[in-house]
Amino acid sequence: LANQIAAGEVVERPASIVTECVENSLDAGATQISVDIEQGGAKVIRIQDDGCGIAKDELPLALARHATSKISELDDLENIQSLGFRGEALASISSVSRLTLSSRPDHQEEAWLVFAEGKEQAVTYEPVAHPVGSTVEIRDLFFNTPARRKFLKAAKTEFQHIQTLIKRIALAHYDVGFTLSHNQKSVLKLPARDSRERRIKDVCGEAFAQNALRVETQYQDYQLHAFVSKPMDGFTDNSLQFIYVNGRMMRDKLIMHAIRQAYEGMIPAQQHAGYVVFLTLPTQGFDVNVHPAKHEVRFVES
Ligand code: ADP
Ligand code: MG
Repeated sequence: LANQIAAGEVVERPASIVTECVENSLDAGATQISVDIEQGGAKVIRIQDDGCGIAKDELPLALARHATSKISELDDLENIQSLGFRGEALASISSVSRLTLSSRPDHQEEAWLVFAEGKEQAVTYEPVAHPVGSTVEIRDLFFNTPARRKFLKAAKTEFQHIQTLIKRIALAHYDVGFTLSHNQKSVLKLPARDSRERRIKDVCGEAFAQNALRVETQYQDYQLHAFVSKPMDGFTDNSLQFIYVNGRMMRDKLIMHAIRQAYEGMIPAQQHAGYVVFLTLPTQGFDVNVHPAKHEVRFVES
């Protein structure tokens, strides 16, 4: 029950599951991540990576609540480098779906699949064929919480959210390859690139990549690396607005507001700027432990 309550905060919709799992793959050092979706994620969400994998005897911990391999002491909490640190995503997701985790680290000959069931969340092991890396497969989302299942939108809508999300994550990790399929049809292929510019072209389109102004600036320990549209190149919606703080995607009100102010009076009403903004600052300069789904950070000196 506690896991299901936590799932209420972490698992808003299929796209939130994809976020958590893809972030886990990135934390595991993956260079290739494939995401396969069926029926908008209500039926199947499968994320496979070629990351470091999980040793057999640590698999139950990966599914256990409040278990993380990413921080081990209080001081670490003020210096978080990884995308995850709360140790509750897999436990939460597993409590509202049928989740299996398959994995093989490279020091281990065989791969194992685990899943948790029942009130005690007892973990069952099965041998499985799997290359080095991990696969998380989530079936029948919300099968045991029918009230929440009703909040799922049409498969097309849920898939759209997933697709947008993969693009957002991919922008910040240009050196990782991503593939996305829906109902066995390939929808998105973003090969690993050797520059940020190339990935921006893949995701935001040729026109944006060519016309955007590049901003590269530094103030004390703060670095800003951004691609911003010229005022006359406005867009009809705000879908080309991406903000990252230390590689973490954000919808940060403070930064959004600052950008809006910068464009004020230059961009026609009803039009939107396009921007991809990467802000990098010392980890002590902000707190990521603010929101269960990590949508927000709190800046020490806003
Ligand atoms: P968190 O990411 O906050 O640590 P999660 O519930 O997302 O918590 O994952 C729990 C643990 O499972 C992680 O700390 C990590 O050790 C392990 N794990 C999950 N997914 C992967 C993966 N794709 N590759 C390697 N390890 C993983
Ligand atoms: Mg995680």
